[in-house]
Amino acid sequence: MNELSAIGELAAAVTGPRRISVLGSTGSIGCSTLDIVARYPHLFEITALTAHRNVGRLIEQARQFRPQVAVIGDESLYLELKEALAGSGIAVAAGASAVNEAASRNADWVMAAIVGAAGLAPTLEAVRNGATIALANKECLVCAGDVFTDAIAAAGATLLPVDSEHNAIYQVFDFDQAERVDRIILTASGGPFRTWTKDAMGVATIEQAVAHPNWSMGAKISVDSATMMNKGLELIEAYYLFPVREEQIEILVHPQSVIHSMVGYVDGSVLAQLGVPDMRTPIAYTMAWPARMEAPADRLDFAKIGTLTFEEPDLERFPALALAREALRAGCGAPTVLNAANEIAVARFLERRLAFLDVARVVEATLEAYSKRRAACGPACLEDVHQLDLEARRDALAFADRSAL
Ligand code: NAD
Ligand code: MG
Repeated sequence: MNELSAIGELAAAVTGPRRISVLGSTGSIGCSTLDIVARYPHLFEITALTAHRNVGRLIEQARQFRPQVAVIGDESLYLELKEALAGSGIAVAAGASAVNEAASRNADWVMAAIVGAAGLAPTLEAVRNGATIALANKECLVCAGDVFTDAIAAAGATLLPVDSEHNAIYQVFDFDQAERVDRIILTASGGPFRTWTKDAMGVATIEQAVAHPNWSMGAKISVDSATMMNKGLELIEAYYLFPVREEQIEILVHPQSVIHSMVGYVDGSVLAQLGVPDMRTPIAYTMAWPARMEAPADRLDFAKIGTLTFEEPDLERFPALALAREALRAGCGAPTVLNAANEIAVARFLERRLAFLDVARVVEATLEAYSKRRAACGPACLEDVHQLDLEARRDALAFADRSAL
């Protein structure tokens, strides 16, 4: 197939190869992004690739995509990276500040696909550069909310959501008539425990929690999907991305993951974006925006699917959903605390040191402790976010220790 005809308008929309950086290139989203790049090598030039510990995959990617710089977060892996790429002309570096420096390099488009609050500082570096930010890292928006959106506005950067639900909403949200939107319906698969009893969830293993029925993802977001905290984080993400009030954002369980989310208008119309559950579709959307490009995802076969179903979420078995909504309502730093506590609790679960149902309990206890000392307003700058995030992690660790297996 002729590459240029395949990407149609994209070729016309850009002059020369687009300079792109992938933060978190070795993860699930990072690899899907590079899968698209590999199909259209003449259209993209890689500025930076960054990873945390997966040095083997980073080396392979650097050899294939020849970025200006390849950075490994874990400094103990620096020598391995340096030796493997010696003589290649690719600069190498290690450590958190090197990840920030790589993110600040001139690029037209940056994929923010580091997992967790660790992605906040590098993503903000890319924002300050005025790059188009393809945001997969929802924790950035959850923990930094207004600090993040203010930085986007100040830099005149463009923020494009990659998260499939938010990407869907972005595609059908009429920003020129935002006051005519009466609700956003965030769809949720319900995760691997959608039909499980609470007793069964109480003894759920890591393997069961990360076995998502529809999506293949990194470990942390897979556990978040199992607790449904993922949908809670996405509720907060939607609040910061779109001009709607918290009570206008509904959550609906849709086990087939075909409708990726919907926007309801005041005349009763509901617009939806549909597709197979393959992150390469929303990633390609953000890569080609405002045009569209070919993506390798399968096409929907409606006759084969037959039935789409919907259910109310069960807040009793999935308390994380209610915690996230309460945190959003409370504001004043509560979403930062929710996110930090969840990261600690999920990490402990993945170390087999915390039972599955205790993940939400640790988050709840951390939020409750915070509610007693909550400030009158939320974090005002990156330093405030870091401070609050650290305090919440300390509290969450103490609660996790008390419930340790
Ligand atoms: P992943 O665990 O597969 O990959 C995470 C990437 O971040 C890796 O490259 C890792 O090396 C890097 N990383 C981890 N900790 C780091 C640190 N401290 N400093 C620097 N780099 C670090 O995760 P993923 O599934 O690709 O998800 C990435 C982000 O995208 C998450 O925020 C997730 O919520 C979001 N997201 C993922 C999907 C999906 O389908 N995987 C869908 C929607 C949103
Ligand atoms: Mg999602």
